[in-house]
Amino acid sequence: MEIVDFVKFKKEEIKKEVSLFDEVSFLIIQVGDNEASNAYVKGKIKDALEVGIKPVLKKLDENIKEEDILSIIDEANKDESICGIIVQLPLPSHIDEKKIALSISYKKDIDGFHPLSLFTPCTPKGIIMYLDSLNYDYESKNALIIGRSNIVGKPIASLLLNKNCNVTITHSHTRRDDLFSYVKNADLIIVAVGKTYFLDDTFLFKDDAYIIDVGINRENGKLKGDVIPNLKVKYQSPVPKGVGLLTRVALLENILEGKRNGI
Ligand code: NAD
Repeated sequence: MEIVDFVKFKKEEIKKEVSLFDEVSFLIIQVGDNEASNAYVKGKIKDALEVGIKPVLKKLDENIKEEDILSIIDEANKDESICGIIVQLPLPSHIDEKKIALSISYKKDIDGFHPLSLFTPCTPKGIIMYLDSLNYDYESKNALIIGRSNIVGKPIASLLLNKNCNVTITHSHTRRDDLFSYVKNADLIIVAVGKTYFLDDTFLFKDDAYIIDVGINRENGKLKGDVIPNLKVKYQSPVPKGVGLLTRVALLENILEGKRNGI
């Protein structure tokens, strides 16, 4: 199934389940007016409305005090009509992102950033959905993850381990010649670095390798991935209209899961 059709199918499923409830609602807290954040928040609101979920947006002044954000979160944690809370990142430098993340109830942390969160973070969940949609066979595959962030690299490593892959994680301190040999032996490569065309044709790949490009880099108004297009491999996910689409579906699924948990 084409990814776009798979996304439609998933959204229809979610919409059906949402319609069984009186209301499914979640809160987005945005601080300031960052351009990329505006685009992400707009996308989240559009997706939610499409499947019948009610978004509540609190757009707060750039100079708001940390304690005021904490008290909004505290209120939302107690509000039974809110089944999920998102704080759009980045936050201004006077706000401690970690403190904010930890203040969200683990039962409502639909981004999955709290260490006790009941939810799988959206991007790794989206990557697995993406690979599942391709009927990817994970068993005993050599999976290479480039990037070790808490929201992509580390959680996708654990999901792939659970699927019986042999997992290697590389990062900014990995030596180039080591990376070269890991890439050469990888059956599955997940790239989440945040550098345009970081993975290019100077590397050697297995002919039957699958590459999932998580990167989203904005250049002159265009979105570019971390992987140069058209590598000679079996499958390479595009940017845009790749994993990002399923990350968005994963968020809708987490909101619904929040609703189920709250019952
Ligand atoms: P991050 O900046 O937190 O992490 C980047 C990682 O890349 C770090 O762990 C770093 O060690 C690693 N890295 C840097 N240079 C490297 C090198 N030379 N070799 C190997 N590793 C290197 O970024 P992030 O939040 O994980 O996001 C990564 C990319 O994915 C960004 O472009 C971001 O916009 C994108 N992203 C996309 C989605 C989506 O839904 N598609 C979601 C989240 C993030």
